[in-house]
Amino acid sequence: MKKIIVALDGHSSCGKSTMARWLAREAGYIYVDTGAMYRAVTLFALRQGFFSADGTLDAAALEQALPGLRVDFARKASDGLPRVQLSGEDVEEEIRGMQVSSHVSPVAALPFVRKAMTAAQQAMGHEKGIVMDGRDIGTAVFPEAELKIFVTASAEVRARRRYDELTAKGQKVDYAEILRNVQERDYIDSHRETAPLRCAADALVLDNSRMTREEQNEWLLQAFRERTNQD
Ligand code: C5P
Repeated sequence: MKKIIVALDGHSSCGKSTMARWLAREAGYIYVDTGAMYRAVTLFALRQGFFSADGTLDAAALEQALPGLRVDFARKASDGLPRVQLSGEDVEEEIRGMQVSSHVSPVAALPFVRKAMTAAQQAMGHEKGIVMDGRDIGTAVFPEAELKIFVTASAEVRARRRYDELTAKGQKVDYAEILRNVQERDYIDSHRETAPLRCAADALVLDNSRMTREEQNEWLLQAFRERTNQD
């Protein structure tokens, strides 16, 4: 069976990562969560004090520091799942909190950040056999991907899922704040100049607002099989 590139794009918190991780395991493909890469750069900027108290980012300082930064993945021995590394430090847990979520979209809008992350992502998909999720995979990172999927759901459904996920991890979070964050990230991601969030013309659209995880997985596997069995 031929190896392909699967590009999964869509709005924030609509379950793309869960879908992508599941499909990668089914297919024996590599899974790459590109959002984790932008989150890791954001964590770095926060730690370095590149954000001022009013939330303004010192983009020049970040641009200068970025070439010295390594963002990649290491597999956890127990479950084989990739965990994002910031210059060798495992930051997979730390990047998921609200502080990173509320600063990531302005960082991801910077052209020099996108250029560096896109180059790293393209290198990872060089040999195909990869499922990558993000915002611009089917439009900018791999416009030639054989299977493109654009996932969406209502903002309220997405915020509720995120709330449940964070609460289950023991984090104290506020639903209204999460909903605001989801809407704000959608807006910034869709309106930035470089590689904005868009549905590629040749993408399959999946609105999973009313789907169970099983229905979603079945839909995904069907789409994958159709593409890999072609020619
Ligand atoms: O997917 P996740 O919600 O973790 O992504 C975090 C943020 O990273 C998004 O809100 C978006 O601003 C940015 N992102 C991006 N391009 C990608 C993946 C994520 O701009 N390919």
